[in-house]
Amino acid sequence: MEIPGDQTYHSEDMGGPQKRAIALMSGGLDSALAAAWTKRLGFEVVGLNLATGFCTGQGRCDAVLAQGLALGIPVRLLEVSAEYLEVVKHPKYGRGQGMNPCLDCRIFMLQKAKEVMEEEGASFVVTGEVLGQRPMSQHREALELVAQESGLGERLVRPLSGRLLGPTFPERMGWVKREDWLDIQGRSRQRQLALARELGIPQFTPPGGGCCLLLERAYSKRLRDLIREKGVDALTKDDFALLRYGRHFRLGPKVRVVVGRDETENAALLSFPGDHHVLEFPDVPGPVALVLGEPSAEELREAAELAARYSDAPKDTPVRVLVRRNEDIREIQVIPWDKDDPRLARLRIDR
Ligand code: SF4
Repeated sequence: MEIPGDQTYHSEDMGGPQKRAIALMSGGLDSALAAAWTKRLGFEVVGLNLATGFCTGQGRCDAVLAQGLALGIPVRLLEVSAEYLEVVKHPKYGRGQGMNPCLDCRIFMLQKAKEVMEEEGASFVVTGEVLGQRPMSQHREALELVAQESGLGERLVRPLSGRLLGPTFPERMGWVKREDWLDIQGRSRQRQLALARELGIPQFTPPGGGCCLLLERAYSKRLRDLIREKGVDALTKDDFALLRYGRHFRLGPKVRVVVGRDETENAALLSFPGDHHVLEFPDVPGPVALVLGEPSAEELREAAELAARYSDAPKDTPVRVLVRRNEDIREIQVIPWDKDDPRLARLRIDR
């Protein structure tokens, strides 16, 4: 039988059976369970976490490392954000409800895992995918597609649903029996939660909780808007990074305003690289705002009035705004827009 992706990994080529697996670990429950279950079956497991730049949880790397520590699984962290941008820009298999290119994303991650598998002298790759759990990427055809397209074929193992899926390389080698895999399917997490308690898996992000910026409605709206302005090929790493922060408004075809929502975002906007106007409020607590593009004097004033709405400046009272672009610093006074001003809703990109 021809096994896709099997040309280079015959066990005899590796000097004997390699009972080592690479487990893709996201910091979530399912991937930790899959890694732990594989280890329980007697395999040596190396965890792999890929930093794509689109992860929402700052603590997810910590969660992966904590899981690895608790399970006795060493974890490799791999930075792949530059390559991943191409996946986001040009997905071959389309997007979900947001800008999430889930099938292409899975294929990319598994290709990376395959490279690590080769480096580590491992025999197969393990994921926490569950048959029927996610509509776009975890139905049977999608699972088969990513196995083929990643080049892993039978070397891609989903232990949580393995009994319900096709035969795997470890089975063919006689290392495990079909019944050793689990038969979890669907969206309920009850069995996974029970198994997590049994296997002592700590600190996973809440089941069903978001983990990916590309799934988020607001982020997706900002990204769609920016693609309309610049075209997808022109988007840079910084363009994507800036979409993470603040409230976004469009003042003109080439002019955007980003207004920080809290101190963390204000600090991020202040240090954001690039040739843009920065607005600050020296006399009252208020946001930092960036004006992107080449605004006219009128648009710059409008941006300052808009940003002032989110400051503590009293209603109908002029407030001082520092306007900085590189070394050039000016000062203007504006009356803040009222919080119910209809222009706010009309200009907002991400509502
Ligand atoms: S939700 Fe995001 S990280 Fe998960 S498969 Fe889809 S694009 Fe990739």
